[in-house]
Amino acid sequence: MSHYDLAVVGGDGIGPEITRETIRVVRAAADTVGIALDTVDLDASAVRWMRTGVALPDDQLAACLAADAVYLGAIGLPEARHPDGREVNGDVILGLRTGLDLYAGLRPARSFAGVPKVLTTAADIDYVVVRENVEGMFASRLGGARVGDAVVTDTLIITRYGTERVVRRAFELARTRHLRTPDRPARVTCVDKSNAFASYAFFRAVFDDVAAEYPDVERDYAYIDAMTTYQVQRPERFDVVVTENLFGDIISDLAGATVGGLGLAPSADVGDEHGMFQSAHGSAPDIAGLGIANPTAAILSGALMLSWLGAQHDDAAALAAGERVERAIASVLADPALRTPDLGGPQTTEGFGDAVLRAVEADA
Ligand code: ATP
Ligand code: MG
Repeated sequence: MSHYDLAVVGGDGIGPEITRETIRVVRAAADTVGIALDTVDLDASAVRWMRTGVALPDDQLAACLAADAVYLGAIGLPEARHPDGREVNGDVILGLRTGLDLYAGLRPARSFAGVPKVLTTAADIDYVVVRENVEGMFASRLGGARVGDAVVTDTLIITRYGTERVVRRAFELARTRHLRTPDRPARVTCVDKSNAFASYAFFRAVFDDVAAEYPDVERDYAYIDAMTTYQVQRPERFDVVVTENLFGDIISDLAGATVGGLGLAPSADVGDEHGMFQSAHGSAPDIAGLGIANPTAAILSGALMLSWLGAQHDDAAALAAGERVERAIASVLADPALRTPDLGGPQTTEGFGDAVLRAVEADA
């Protein structure tokens, strides 16, 4: 019987509420395939920052490094800001991305039967944005400059090393997805602005170098501006999309909105050794404590965690548990009476969690 240690960070706002449902469901799914999960609850949050001045203490980061995977609820509160205006959630999220070298941000966008997906397209949406997670425009935390109050610069950094590894991850993902759904072509789309910037032209050139190693996978390109229109007008064209950090931040939010809102969009931040899983949305302080948050994105992030553990440890049971959670979510969302208020339904966070739990246990 395999066993994994999870570091669980509930965080701020609705974070602890959606985390509770996720851990319940993930544990039940693991149970059905004979996997034991040990959890340790950590405290890294905006609330902690307000109390102590530190959002991600060293011992909490060390506990994340020691775990097999990190599950994160949501971090950040609007009032928790540094004097320069930066939000404290970056201390935790960017701190963990850097500290655990989680260089690829995976953001699946998938529509669910029966759930209105905002767009008029009849086709199903099913693609994954792979966002470079540790350099690009966000490297400017190390390279920005201010000249008095007249000029401010930020520095975009693209390295061959950083681009190769994230692009390779995207091609590997396209292969894996193709194995699961052979009727769909394996395709990786490079999103950039190579017609205007040397940095993005370099990103595309490195993409081409890596693509040459994967002759079985189709390659495709889109400029970031055109990409936003394709995501709205013909999203069915996409399979795996790979892009720079800031572009990935933007198009993954758009992708989440097109499939029915932030409450549905999961995310994984992964490197070669570590993985961290959280919903793509923030801590939604406006609805915290009301028991009405939609835990779908959080639970789907838990499913990604199980699948990632399975791939990482060559553990078919963990992969099966991840798929079981995904099936359970799809079956629960198909019933309007089981949806939460953001999707027009009457359910509470816990009521939705109960329904998913039942579906996980009923799935033979
Ligand atoms: P961040 O800066 O951390 O990305 P944000 O400012 O983009 O956060 P969110 O916290 O993601 O904002 O929430 C935006 C709005 O979407 C919230 O006010 C909330 O009403 C709604 N929302 C977000 N997540 C959920 C959820 N899981 N269930 C229901 N509504 C949600
Ligand atoms: Mg946001």
